[in-house]
Amino acid sequence: MSDCLFCKIIKGEIKGSIVYEDDRVLAFNDINPQAPTHVLVVPKRHITSLNDVAPEDDELIGELTRRAAAIARERGISSGGYRTVFNTNRDAGQTVFHIHLHLLGGRAMHWPPG
Ligand code: 5GP
Ligand code: ZN
Repeated sequence: MSDCLFCKIIKGEIKGSIVYEDDRVLAFNDINPQAPTHVLVVPKRHITSLNDVAPEDDELIGELTRRAAAIARERGISSGGYRTVFNTNRDAGQTVFHIHLHLLGGRAMHWPPG
């Protein structure tokens, strides 16, 4: 999608601090990190939000979640713990409308979230 910020990062039109890349998935550091590890894991194909995920996307969503776990493992935060979040629409505070899985870790998290 031409006016989508994350599509521009995927195409290299805007610079991202890339953590992982393959044919279908890109992971990059969040520009405004909320924890020592704050990585965004996104599909390269534009999907607006979790509301727009179809059954044929199940494998892709699985790849996002397993990639987040792999990055957590690489960062050494797997056993201590980490949080993965899809914010969806206004009440969750979604600001970029290209689905992204937040991987947050490296500090203790609170529950319930704000
Ligand atoms: P949301 O609030 O939609 O769940 O998360 C969007 C995230 O994208 C925010 O955590 C925000 O800091 C991050 N973000 C916004 N603009 C950029 C950018 O240009 N580059 C990177 N790497 N992250 C961004
Ligand atoms: Zn996009």
